[in-house]
Amino acid sequence: MTAPSRSPARICRGCWDQMHVPIPIRGPLALPFRLFGVTRSKMNPQICTICEHAFERVQKQRHVSRTATILFADIRGYTSLSAHMDPVALTETVSAFQDACADAIWAHDGIVNKQMGDGLMAIFNFPIKIEQHAAAAVQAGLEIQRHCKVVLAALGARIGAPAMGDLGVGVGIHTGPVEIGQFSTARSDFTAIGGTVNLAARLEGQAAPGEILLSPGAAAAAGRLAIGAPRRSVTLKGIDAPVEAHVLTAAA
Ligand SMILES: [Zn+2]
Repeated sequence: MTAPSRSPARICRGCWDQMHVPIPIRGPLALPFRLFGVTRSKMNPQICTICEHAFERVQKQRHVSRTATILFADIRGYTSLSAHMDPVALTETVSAFQDACADAIWAHDGIVNKQMGDGLMAIFNFPIKIEQHAAAAVQAGLEIQRHCKVVLAALGARIGAPAMGDLGVGVGIHTGPVEIGQFSTARSDFTAIGGTVNLAARLEGQAAPGEILLSPGAAAAAGRLAIGAPRRSVTLKGIDAPVEAHVLTAAA
C-alpha cells in the first residue's frame, strides 16, 4: 500500500475544521483524551471519535446542510462470485478491497462513512474541509481503481481462484447538497442523506468493472481531471431523465 501523502496530524482535523478546537489525537497530549475514550476514528485516522459520535454537540444542530462529494465503490459481480468462492478467499477479497479503498480515500482527506461488505460510501468535504472536494474524490476514485486492480490480481494469483480474473471495482461520484447528521434515534454515527447520495449510488450501480462514473455536476467541479473524458448516457432507477455520465478509467 502507498504511504500517506503527508505526516499524520497531531490534532483532529475534523474538530479543528468544524469548531476550531484542537483535540490531540497523537503524541503525549492525546493520552488523557484516550482515557476518556477519545481515539482516532475508523472513518479516517486524521479525525477523532468526537467527530464521529457527538455530531449534535459539535455542530450545535441535529443536522447541517453542506455541499459535498459522495463516492460509492463496490466489487462488481460479487454476488455471483461469492456463490462459488470459499469463505476464506471471500473474506480476504473483501478485506483487500476495503483496505485499498480506505487508503485512497484517506490520502485525499475523505472519510469512509459506511462499509457494506463488498461496497462502501465515502464523503469528501466533511468533517475535514476540502476546497476542491470533487477533484479529491476523483483522484481517490482513480487510486481505488489502480490499487484494487493490483491487489485483486495478486490475491487471485495467490489463492488460485480462476474467477478472480473477472473481479473489478465500480465507482460512482456525485457532487451536490447533502444533509449530514445522526438520523437514527439509536446511537449511531453521522451520515449524509439526500438526492446527491442517491445519484452517486445509482451511478456506481451502472459502472462496469474498472470504471468511474461521474455525474455532470461532479465532472464540472473536478475541472481538468474530467476534461475530455468519454460520456455515456445512463438511465438511473428513480431518476426521471437519463444522466450524461463522464466515464473515467485508471491508466495501467
Ligand atoms: Zn474530532
